[in-house]
Amino acid sequence: MDAETRPAILWLRRDLRITDHLALASAARQRTPVIPVYVVSTWRDNHAWTGDKRQHFLCECLASLAHSLEQLGGRLIIRRGDPVAEIETLASETGAASVHFTLDPDPFGRSTETRLRESCRRLKLECHGHHDTTLHQPDEILNQSGRPYRVFTPYLKNWLSRPKVPPLKAPREIHTPAGIHSLPLPTLASWDLPPLHATLPAAGEKAAKARLRNACSKLIQHYDARRDFPGLDATTRISQDLRFGLLSIRTVYQTAVRARQSASPAAAASIDTFISELAWREFYFAILHHFPDILNTEFNPNWRGIPWREPGPGFDAWKSGCTGFPIVDAGMRELLATGFMHNRVRMITAMFLTKDLHLDWKLGESHFMRHLIDGEIASNNGGWQWSAGTGADAAPYFRIQNPWSQSARYDSDGTYIKKWIPELAGTHPSQFHQAPKTGTPIASGYPLPILDHNTERKVTLDIFKRHREQTNHQ
Ligand SMILES: Cc1cc2nc3c(=O)[nH]c(=O)nc-3n(C[C@H](O)[C@H](O)[C@H](O)COP(=O)(O)OP(=O)(O)OC[C@H]3O[C@@H](n4cnc5c(N)ncnc54)[C@H](O)[C@@H]3O)c2cc1C
Repeated sequence: MDAETRPAILWLRRDLRITDHLALASAARQRTPVIPVYVVSTWRDNHAWTGDKRQHFLCECLASLAHSLEQLGGRLIIRRGDPVAEIETLASETGAASVHFTLDPDPFGRSTETRLRESCRRLKLECHGHHDTTLHQPDEILNQSGRPYRVFTPYLKNWLSRPKVPPLKAPREIHTPAGIHSLPLPTLASWDLPPLHATLPAAGEKAAKARLRNACSKLIQHYDARRDFPGLDATTRISQDLRFGLLSIRTVYQTAVRARQSASPAAAASIDTFISELAWREFYFAILHHFPDILNTEFNPNWRGIPWREPGPGFDAWKSGCTGFPIVDAGMRELLATGFMHNRVRMITAMFLTKDLHLDWKLGESHFMRHLIDGEIASNNGGWQWSAGTGADAAPYFRIQNPWSQSARYDSDGTYIKKWIPELAGTHPSQFHQAPKTGTPIASGYPLPILDHNTERKVTLDIFKRHREQTNHQ
């Protein structure tokens, strides 16, 4: 086959869109046929770090992507197995000359890329990996000594000062050669998972673009004042879209910057806060990149070896949303029912696990990864270590949120709590924000609090203080 007409393989991973897609643009730019391929993983049942909700969302995104690619004149090829072996097979079947893909921000994806590069070298295939998940790469934003930041504010200042690459358009057309074998689009049954009983957001690039339009036309202008209230529809809800690459981060950033141009000073300040959240996402990617050990241990060495308790019935109550703390239970039930949890409530539930139940943050981290559709290794680890007080720029260990006062402050009328705990529909919201005084449950079928927050708060302070003293003396 003539070198000019040999196809380019586009290996799709967490970049399931056609607009503003660097690897797709680079494959299509060569005017050669493009073979977009998604390689379905082979794990069965209970995967520790993903579950039915995220896999279902993935299936729907792939169906939507297949449709978008067809409209461009291409075809999504589905294979199953080890991605490197599958790409090798596809290349030999089609005579492909190159492989294009988006670089993965986590160490698991990166190890597959290392194997792919070796295989491409061996098979004399061009190998093009593109940084496309963040606006800035971890090695781009370093302090004056050339080292990674450990604190967010100076990182943000540096991040904001850097020029940002503008978005690209989708290619007008691509051509995928006929006759290439493809498996059917995956379904939950592909991983032996039963049908889903959860309500998920609409999947695919079109739905994600609609969420972004909605967010940037009316939500981010009021983000500062409203984002902490879980009963309001006040945050953008694009986290799963960034996780699956239904939206490119360049497009998100540019849409927010455009909204800022016509905003009042107060709205512009809110949009700045929103943009700083995009930088938190990149800060956590950078932390994971530079300190991959955080997946196994505390970022802050002072807190390694904390004597966390063994999980017991308290952990089960937390997971199922039956702790008797309405704000905690509402969050945990929202997670099970939708694969999402509001950020404020993620912090409250995470602190409850680590500071009230004294359980290892890694237990919560993996429970969240199994249930969140936006489950992102870096942000999830960052959020958990922040809440546990062990992470980069984390809440200090003695700043322990009180779940009662948090719900009084952020869900005073109980809108959020009532939405997720039907047993409490007829209960007056004032009862959601304090422990019942009489020892009687606040509603039939709803449990009494499983612990006393003030007592457990003192226990936590004691655990951390003692640990610090012991390690200082070693
Ligand atoms: C314990 C814990 C676990 C978390 N796990 C995840 C996770 O697995 N995946 C994930 O995307 N986010 C995670 N977060 C961060 C945050 O809760 C979600 O990004 C946010 O709730 C998503 O809703 P949204 O899209 O409406 O956010 P918005 O408030 O509209 O923010 C816009 C975007 O900015 C990013 N962002 C916002 N806040 C944060 C933050 N604190 N850290 C990193 N990025 C942020 C997200 O990409 C988000 O979509 C976690 C936070 C905590 C406390």
